[in-house]
Formats: sequence, structure tokens, C-alpha cells
Amino acid sequence: MASVFTRIINGEIPCYKVAEDDRYFAFLDINPLKEGHTLVVPKYETDYVFDLDNDQLAGLILFSKKIAAAIKAAIPCTRIGVAILGLEVPHAHIHLVPMNSMEDVNFKNPKLKFTSEEFKSTAEKIKDKLISL
Ligand code: AMP
Repeated sequence: MASVFTRIINGEIPCYKVAEDDRYFAFLDINPLKEGHTLVVPKYETDYVFDLDNDQLAGLILFSKKIAAAIKAAIPCTRIGVAILGLEVPHAHIHLVPMNSMEDVNFKNPKLKFTSEEFKSTAEKIKDKLISL
């Protein structure tokens, strides 16, 4: 069965999309640690990120670099934290989390709640920066 992320990529489940190209897809995490917390996912579905071949893995990092730059430009923060967990969704992905301190990337923190309008506005802010970068 397709992963929840493949279903998002295929448009079967809604998401707050930030960007995509032919191989990768970025969208807001629905349970964010911070405003702008984004997931970057390869369209090729595999559970464990280090099972990606070198080309896919390198491409995922390079795509994430562009997204991170846009998030950093859109959301006030000192840097973008990068995490790979994969404990919940068996489809390789990178978490990009705007951070000002180590505590901001503690995945045990309570997740933030945003309205749909707020999620949309955050995604738009990041997309605008992607265009202007
Ligand atoms: P992990 O697999 O441990 O890296 O965590 C998966 C992440 O995916 C969690 O932070 C979830 O909040 C997020 N997530 C799960 N389902 C969705 C969804 N439908 N849309 C956006 N984010 C999701």
C-alpha cells in the first residue's frame, strides 16, 4: 500500500505544499515544532533514507538546501535544523525546522496548532522566498 506521503504527492491527501520538482516534494508538517517546519520527501518511495541510492540521496539534500534557504528567508530564525527520524511514516523524509535554540528541535516538545489559514499563509511565505531566491 502506498505511504501517506506518496498519497500526498499524488494529490489523494491534501497538504500545504511548498515546492516540488520531478523527484522531490516539500510540504508543511501538520504537527509542527515551529512555524515553517517542513518535510522534504523523495517521490521514490522507500522507508529508510539510507536505502536511497547515492544519486537520490544527494538530490534530496540539494533540494532540501533550496527549501531551507527559503524557510530561513521567510521565518525569523537563526538557522534551519535538520532531522531525519522516520519513526512514524515509513517513507524517507527530512525535517527542516526553523530554530533559535537546541530546544526548538526537541521532538518531545508539544506540537504547535495552526489554523488552515495560518498553514496556507506560512506555505505562501516560503514559496514567495523560493521564487525570489
Ligand atoms: P517521522 O516519521 O518520525 O519522521 O515523523 C513523521 C512526521 O510526518 C511527523 O512530524 C508528522 O507530524 C508528519 N506527518 C504525518 N502525516 C502527515 C500529513 N498528512 N501531513 C503533514 N505531515 C504529516
